[in-house]
Amino acid sequence: MINCIFCQIIQRQIPASIVYEDEQVLAFHDIHPQAPKHILIIPKIHISTLNQLESEHGALMGKLILTARDLAHEFGIHDSGYRLILNCNYGAGQTVFHIHLHLLGGRRLGWPPG
Ligand code: 5GP
Ligand code: ZN
Repeated sequence: MINCIFCQIIQRQIPASIVYEDEQVLAFHDIHPQAPKHILIIPKIHISTLNQLESEHGALMGKLILTARDLAHEFGIHDSGYRLILNCNYGAGQTVFHIHLHLLGGRRLGWPPG
């Protein structure tokens, strides 16, 4: 989608530090990391928020989680622990309106989140 920064990353119109790509998903380092390891995993199709998900997207969302699981292994945070976050809309802190799964790890993560 035009004007979507993550679609522009998918199209290589703006740079990103990409760590994984296949036909369905792309993963890259967050530009403002909130933990020593902070990776975003996104679908290659534009879906703006969780509220726009259709039942046909179930496998795709599962793919995001499985990709995050694999990257947690690759970045060595699978044993120490990691967190997956999907923010939906402004009140939850969503600032980029193209669904993205945050993978955070490499430090002790507080709970509950603020
Ligand atoms: P949200 O707050 O929407 O859940 O998360 C959006 C995330 O995207 C933020 O953590 C922010 O740092 C990251 N981000 C925003 N713009 C860019 C960008 O151009 N490149 C990369 N790599 N990350 C971005
Ligand atoms: Zn998009």
